[in-house]
Amino acid sequence: MSAGPGAAPRRVRSVYVHAPFCARRCVYCDFAVAVRKTGDLPAWIEALTGELAHVDREGLVRLADRLETVYVGGGTPSLLGPSAMFELADVLGSDRLADPSLEWTAEANPESLTAEVAEGWRSAGVNRVSLGAQSFDPAALRWMGRLHGSEGPQSAVQVARAAGIDNLSVDLIFGLPAHIGRSWADDLRRLVGLGVPHVSLYGLTVEAGTALGRAVREGRETPVDEDQYRDEFLMAADVLTRAGYVHYEVSNFARPGFESRHNSMYWRGRPYLGLGNGAHSFASPVRRWNLRSWEEYRAAVAADSSPESERETLDETARALEAIWLGLRTNRGLEEPATGTARADLLSTWIEGGLACASDGRFTLTTEGWLLLDRLVIDYDEAGPG
Ligand code: SF4
Repeated sequence: MSAGPGAAPRRVRSVYVHAPFCARRCVYCDFAVAVRKTGDLPAWIEALTGELAHVDREGLVRLADRLETVYVGGGTPSLLGPSAMFELADVLGSDRLADPSLEWTAEANPESLTAEVAEGWRSAGVNRVSLGAQSFDPAALRWMGRLHGSEGPQSAVQVARAAGIDNLSVDLIFGLPAHIGRSWADDLRRLVGLGVPHVSLYGLTVEAGTALGRAVREGRETPVDEDQYRDEFLMAADVLTRAGYVHYEVSNFARPGFESRHNSMYWRGRPYLGLGNGAHSFASPVRRWNLRSWEEYRAAVAADSSPESERETLDETARALEAIWLGLRTNRGLEEPATGTARADLLSTWIEGGLACASDGRFTLTTEGWLLLDRLVIDYDEAGPG
């Protein structure tokens, strides 16, 4: 992507593959989704094969001989059935997936992670499953439009483990409207009870083009309450860290050694290739992303043309801002600024206010600081290096 004419293609060791199909669209969902009763596996494989051929012809990036991470997200990859990951391995090239340390994650929803799917994925090489649970509360699940019931996450975890996949992550959503009556404390208790090594938490956001966005505009639903959002985030951080998880990124918690290697690659600014509709690719300084619509993406690839929608080239200022944002969102943090600078003064006020802490020449945001992440990143950037 950043290679000039005649330059050797950039090698990428991480791939994101988007699986767009969902059986129903959740009330809050703004992702690149195609609503279908089942996934269209032949069309998906054909489109990915075509896109990868296009990437090869373009010659800007090339998949490394051995990949380090593969992440199949969605959408609902588990809707594509047991053979999907075998077929994907053929598209990517089985030899590239042969490194014993490869982290290969696939996302699943509880209702479609059957024993056949989990076993099929495991034999294809998937060794990590990220489960979209979102809640255990029946009223909350109905409100969101999810298709699984209260026991769905527990059953799916058992199914994955029975197939030999123990490296599991579970997603929950917080900040749901109070009228639903969902107990966040109960959901956290049940989450901890699953004993999975990784947890991702997302605060509900109201996107304009969603069913929830319309309901808020029409006054049928209330926007997210900021105090509740804050209280639930802090409660989750407290419960999960007491249970032995490390809060290693603003939205992610892991038992030591089980941090997501794929996502950590994003947060370190490493290059990656995204395949599928809406997928993003990055090789500094260029970020580009594909057409969002599955139909438009598929038609572009079928016509042998690029499915790229747009690209941006990050200039030095944008790269500096991104480095701050990536550093502050993880527990790696940033190097402490030189004393006597405006940034050092700002950091002192953060430390006094409980928003950051410093040690060994680096500083990180605290949980309270992460609640204000976007604002603090901008303040730090504007304080300038001098
Ligand atoms: S399952 Fe996920 S991707 Fe599919 S509609 Fe719901 S939130 Fe969106």
